Amino acid sequence: MPVSKDYSERLAQNLEKIVEHYGTPFHLYDEKGIRETGQQLIKAFSGVDFFREYFAVKALPNPTILKLMQDIGFGFDCSSIAELVMSRQIGARGEEIMFTSNNTSGNEFNVAEADGGCILNLDDISLLDKVPEVPELICFRYNPGERRTGNSIIGNPLEAKYGVAHDQLIDAYRKAKSLGVKRFGLHTMLASNELNHAYMVETARMLLDRVDWISNELDIKFDFINIGGGLGIPYRPEEKPLDIVSMGKEISELFKVFKNSHGYTPKLYLESGRYITGPHGVLVTTAINRKEIYRTYVGVDSCMSALMRPGMYGAYHHVSVLNKDGEDEVVDVVGSLCENNDKFAIQRPLPKIEDGDIICIHDTGAHGQAMGFNYNGKVRPKELLLREDGTVQLIRREETLDDLFATLDFDADNLSL
Ligand SMILES: *Cc1c(COP(=O)(O)O)cnc(C)c1O
Repeated sequence: MPVSKDYSERLAQNLEKIVEHYGTPFHLYDEKGIRETGQQLIKAFSGVDFFREYFAVKALPNPTILKLMQDIGFGFDCSSIAELVMSRQIGARGEEIMFTSNNTSGNEFNVAEADGGCILNLDDISLLDKVPEVPELICFRYNPGERRTGNSIIGNPLEAKYGVAHDQLIDAYRKAKSLGVKRFGLHTMLASNELNHAYMVETARMLLDRVDWISNELDIKFDFINIGGGLGIPYRPEEKPLDIVSMGKEISELFKVFKNSHGYTPKLYLESGRYITGPHGVLVTTAINRKEIYRTYVGVDSCMSALMRPGMYGAYHHVSVLNKDGEDEVVDVVGSLCENNDKFAIQRPLPKIEDGDIICIHDTGAHGQAMGFNYNGKVRPKELLLREDGTVQLIRREETLDDLFATLDFDADNLSL
């Protein structure tokens, strides 16, 4: 979807000045929009006794953004050492951090348990023997297999490498209990960019059912369920936004029913990334070339290094041109990589674009910069944050050739054989 009306007004007012000062390309994030979405999410779940969102750090791993999340009251969902370190650098500690890793290494567990630890969300029963110290609280990631169809983007759970299989679930918690674990969580992640709120409601229902089953078998209570991330955003103008109000209401109802029969409810955790920041970012780039061969190509001063999603998944990102409207011609908007999938838009009706025009690629606030890469020696662009007070903050500089060459510049350690 084009960015919100509010954000596009802020862009229309300020973008020329920002471009003049910082130069393109850059991702520009909108503090006001991020905060509003965060507050709306909290409000949507006000019907459950305890709700917490753990922002999926991988969606937008920037300390300034993470501080914003912390200020809203969110924790952090991490799946790598870098994400753990970054979350702790901005002051997150203990149960404000969830470590949802897979194929986890010993070193990752060491870091996860250092500095006040975090919630360990284990991907397999065998990992209980590999955790350096079994903590008081353990969560398992559940893979329901044939009991649930993943949504079309994330695929079939039977083929997914993640999580504990259904038939292993009781054994996993029994083993944890026998090792001295006192508090328990249950997690799953089955959706990606899901726009139907009923899917997430079903996920909550399924987890509460499993909690009921495991509790009865093992005589334990659950501290929390975590229904994962995967809340969708409407990338296309014709798509309807996810109905988080209904989602919150219906999940709250499930929790009420659970409370009536069990006398308590687990806390509800969510680990959304895309939904929180995705719509509140744009990649701003300048048209630098135009060529007319079998198709018309508009070349911009940015490429897949800044945004992989179109090339990697064929994902749609809305494109607009500053101060120009209309659909004068159909073009491909392309980067400069020697890969023909380095296209931000394919056969898209757009206003007539000339060299120097400022182009916005929408919805780059999640899995944009973060997925960027350096193939072809392309550097990733800078990141800017439009603050609520109207100032613009450089929150990451662009990469330089020195950054690219840094790993080549060392005293080689040669092994003689
Ligand atoms: C990627 C991921 C998320 C966040 O996904 P979004 O689609 O950005 O909400 C949450 N949890 C896990 C385990 C993930 O891998």
